[in-house]
Amino acid sequence: MEWWVSVPKVELHAHLNGSIRNSTLLELARELGDKGTIVFSDFEHVIRKNDRTLREVFKLFDLIHVVTTDHKTITRITKEVVEDFAAENVVYLELRTTPKRNDSIGMSKRSYMEAVVDGLRSVSSSNLDINFSCDDLEKFSKNQTKKKIIVRLLLSIDRRESTASAMETVNLALEMKDMGVIGIDLSGNPTVGEWATFFPALKFAREQGLSVTLHCGEVPNSVEIQAMLDFLPGRIGHACCFQDEEWRKLRSYKIPVEICLTSNIRTETISSVDVHHFADLYKENHPIVLCTDDTGVFSTSLSNEYALVSSAFGLGKMELFELARKAVDFIFAGNEVKMELMKVYESAATTL
Ligand code: 5GP
Repeated sequence: MEWWVSVPKVELHAHLNGSIRNSTLLELARELGDKGTIVFSDFEHVIRKNDRTLREVFKLFDLIHVVTTDHKTITRITKEVVEDFAAENVVYLELRTTPKRNDSIGMSKRSYMEAVVDGLRSVSSSNLDINFSCDDLEKFSKNQTKKKIIVRLLLSIDRRESTASAMETVNLALEMKDMGVIGIDLSGNPTVGEWATFFPALKFAREQGLSVTLHCGEVPNSVEIQAMLDFLPGRIGHACCFQDEEWRKLRSYKIPVEICLTSNIRTETISSVDVHHFADLYKENHPIVLCTDDTGVFSTSLSNEYALVSSAFGLGKMELFELARKAVDFIFAGNEVKMELMKVYESAATTL
């Protein structure tokens, strides 16, 4: 087994519907094709395409949602996504998803999220133990026989949503705190929507004790990027199209950055890996964490992201291990979970 696979890893930026297995996506599309709901060959062509611009990626998500958005499928893909991360030794996963309402199939944002939680519940098997609620952590940490993964949920607000819809998502997150929901994410097509639309809901979320992460700087937009940084989110994702003033704010506020290398290269948000801002942030010891974004859509894995950092920036085993371990500092779950993860890294350090 490659070293990157065996090292314990923390994943903080993974979108549920972007992390679906290609095989599952094709199977679901074939079923809908057989029923005449979609034209399978059109769908297959889009799924199998490798390089997509950021705009094409959002078109693909709309297609994916046609295929995945019913309760049974959401439960299935949640289970598979968690199992896939656990298989490559992700020990802590913050999984984010946009609660969706679809009246035609009786789906509310809440029932969508209950289907996600059902998926988490169905993960436990003979060789894998999952913890997704703080209540069970003591019992979970005592069981030493199985592979283990801790999962927490972030609810995403899509930039197409109104203030009222964003507020509905925040209220749902508050109602579902005891089911492992710990925070809010702002995502979706960065060329759509205004910061002012989401700000009231995000502010309310933070006042109510939820952590907030923002997709920030995927396209050039200084006014929005600076407003986002001044909001002091718990973390941001991407930080690709920053100008000098934005870098200055990011550094002085010490906001942790979720780095998604493959995603940024594939969507041509960054022209090549050797000019990626990872290098500067790493050298400066700025808080960063390697993440996948969408393992399915970008055909990557967290192990692959560590391998990429090693080959592109020449980091050795010890440096990569430290990078993985430091990610624990930036998780949104509380101290109890952090302590649990620190024990995992202490034990892994003895085998280096
Ligand atoms: P879901 O929330 O449906 O589980 O995951 C897919 C959704 O996540 C997409 O429709 C989109 O709103 C969001 N998403 C996934 N990848 C990206 C990305 O790279 N950038 C942004 N801004 N949003 C993304």
